[in-house]
Amino acid sequence: MSRTISIPSKLSINDIIVGLKKYAPLSELDIVWRAYDLAEKAHHGQLRKSGEPYITHPLATAYLLTTMRIDVPIIAAALLHDVPEDTAVTIEEIERDFGTDIAGMVRGITKLGKLKYRGAQRYIENLRKMFVAMAEDVRVMIIKFADRIHNLSTLSDLEEKKRYRIALESIEIYAPIAHRLGMGEFKALLEDLAFPFAYPKEYDRTKKIRDRIFDEGEAYIDRVLGLLREELKAAGVKFIDTHGRKKQLYSFYQKLIKKNWETEKIYDIVALRIIVADIADCYAALGVIHKLWRPAKGRIKDYIAQPKPNGYSSLHTTVFGLDGKMIEFQIRTQQMHYEAEFGIAAHWLYDEKGARLPAKDIIWAKQLADIQEEILHNLADLETLKIDFFRNRIFTFTPKGDVIDLPEDATPVDFAYAVHSDIGNHYAGAKVNDIMVNLNTPLRSGDIVEVIVDKNRKSPSADWLKSVKTHQARSQIKNKMQSPINSFVKMILPKKKD
Ligand code: MN
Repeated sequence: MSRTISIPSKLSINDIIVGLKKYAPLSELDIVWRAYDLAEKAHHGQLRKSGEPYITHPLATAYLLTTMRIDVPIIAAALLHDVPEDTAVTIEEIERDFGTDIAGMVRGITKLGKLKYRGAQRYIENLRKMFVAMAEDVRVMIIKFADRIHNLSTLSDLEEKKRYRIALESIEIYAPIAHRLGMGEFKALLEDLAFPFAYPKEYDRTKKIRDRIFDEGEAYIDRVLGLLREELKAAGVKFIDTHGRKKQLYSFYQKLIKKNWETEKIYDIVALRIIVADIADCYAALGVIHKLWRPAKGRIKDYIAQPKPNGYSSLHTTVFGLDGKMIEFQIRTQQMHYEAEFGIAAHWLYDEKGARLPAKDIIWAKQLADIQEEILHNLADLETLKIDFFRNRIFTFTPKGDVIDLPEDATPVDFAYAVHSDIGNHYAGAKVNDIMVNLNTPLRSGDIVEVIVDKNRKSPSADWLKSVKTHQARSQIKNKMQSPINSFVKMILPKKKD
């Protein structure tokens, strides 16, 4: 019922090949064999802290990715990911033997290389390097997450101080990035594997509470799901799967803190999932549930009509279920399920039918990478930048239908600068959904924003700084604002003749 990752203890390349054969074209397996041969030779004689041969680590990293049905070039790069860093084989040799695509990923991982978490000062720098790597090729992060997950699962082999650092870094840096990329499966694994090492006492307490509630509830969940399946069949709703799933431990801990450890206020310790064939069936299933049990007020969430900022879509509802107990249901299609678990990685994943999902652009990562140069030199803005990244995102639209991805509560001026610095600098007003608004108006997901431009405007207004929310707008305004000296110079100099 709950997620378990199990990496076989005597893992070999055969386990990976067997996994790949379930979904990848046989003609592509050769490159995996070759990547393994090179990695095995290069790491020969090296040992991990546990005393095992080093090759067990790249094997485990690649193996984790095959369990997610990730495509072949990423698996090959995963096998090679520590070769340039730790052995005599160079990145140029890898490029010669495996081509620029695979070598590019390995180079990306090597660049991320030996980032060490040393508290707040280094935190931003680490984030910056990850943004750059991510913007260049998001597949690098997919490998990095798998690499980190294996390292976390063997953390007990390390000394205590190092354990703590790696665990904390996983929770504070890696997991939020996985979350922003919509990779729920990776986020959950990173947090839950790191949790006992980062916060041991809290981990024990949380686990005891969750297990107690869950054990008491297991038979109950079976009854609920049994009844529901009958009703779905009777109503002709095509469902693919129904299952209960324990709430992820670390997010349960976060919730316990929020609710002052009052467990009776947490309704989604077990989420009951219904996977259906299509969107119409999602709503039909919701109807069936609400006919069976009375929904709790304000707890029906339609993330299909309004997806979460990271792309998550599903229907959620909490009902007064059997015996009057509150239960949360999550209803989604198979594709929504893949996207919820794997997010941006879903593009490089084979689904049951061998299909791939369309690639998604991660605009915010590119923007952050673009302004990276400023970041280290402009310490005052670091806080805004951090907030930009971790704040929820909204999706707004230009009149032509282009999507502009902004932090929550961003204003029309932020929007204008996100479209283009020229539009921002000549901002004169904005219409949101055809209505004129003032420049403090917070934008909402789905808004269509039309910026009115004044070509004669000389520079942004200092007042704008009071309401903008994005780092991008703030730094552009500051750059462009006329300093008093500039205005003075312009006043006394003769105007250019046109
Ligand atoms: Mn590694």
